[in-house]
Amino acid sequence: MLSVNNLEVVYDDVVLVLRGVSLDVPHGTVVALLGANGAGKTTLLRAVTGLLVAHRGKITKGSVRLDGTDITRADPAQVVRGGVGQVMEGRRVFAEMTVEENLRTGAHTRRRAEYRESVDRVFDLFPVLAERRRATAGYLSGGEQQMLAIGRALMARPRLLLLDEPSLGLAPRLVEQVGEIIAQINGQGTSVLLVEQNAVMALSIASRGYVLEVGKVVRDGPAGELLADEDIREFYLGST
Ligand code: ATP
Repeated sequence: MLSVNNLEVVYDDVVLVLRGVSLDVPHGTVVALLGANGAGKTTLLRAVTGLLVAHRGKITKGSVRLDGTDITRADPAQVVRGGVGQVMEGRRVFAEMTVEENLRTGAHTRRRAEYRESVDRVFDLFPVLAERRRATAGYLSGGEQQMLAIGRALMARPRLLLLDEPSLGLAPRLVEQVGEIIAQINGQGTSVLLVEQNAVMALSIASRGYVLEVGKVVRDGPAGELLADEDIREFYLGST
């Protein structure tokens, strides 16, 4: 589905942030991308979505392919049309709009029936959003806003969903719930690239994981193997 090959990314023409990263998200799977702050995880997502340019970043080597199509230098709109949805770090919602208005901004269809179907699917996944559909998004709790951000991304019916630290700042019970929802979204056929600092949550729903350190993949393998790994547990348990 997504194939990143030997990717090198530079900011401001000087700061080398990704140093030859390769990563695959096979069809229908959840892949976890782990790493400490500043390792380059968000940069990798930007490289996939075409948003690097907006951050003065540039791909200087390597390629990104989506279902075999080269999207290395595609712009964000092309990537979205290719079926990629994303939830950026920090659960950005339109605070002044209602829940339902937020969802509408994520829909790409003008067909009423299709739109209804997408909204219903989101409300099925997040009953709390259905209950609060007319509430102003800015007044939702942090967990509800995260769900709204994910729901909005789903409105475009992506085939691949990129999630940047969806568990950040959430209480443990909510982290677990977000994990279950991601597994459910995947169960409905959407492939997921999950960037997380919460390694336990991410690896328990992913089939494979990659560990990024200062712009390089230092470990990758089946999620179960990484989850059992003492070094990884030791490093990440502090942040779970
Ligand atoms: P975090 O979890 O903190 O978001 P991350 O693994 O996602 O970390 P990135 O945000 O990709 O890491 O950042 C990787 C490195 O690139 C950091 O050293 C960061 O300071 C640098 N960086 C990020 N964005 C820019 C930018 N627009 N210009 C210059 N340097 C940047």
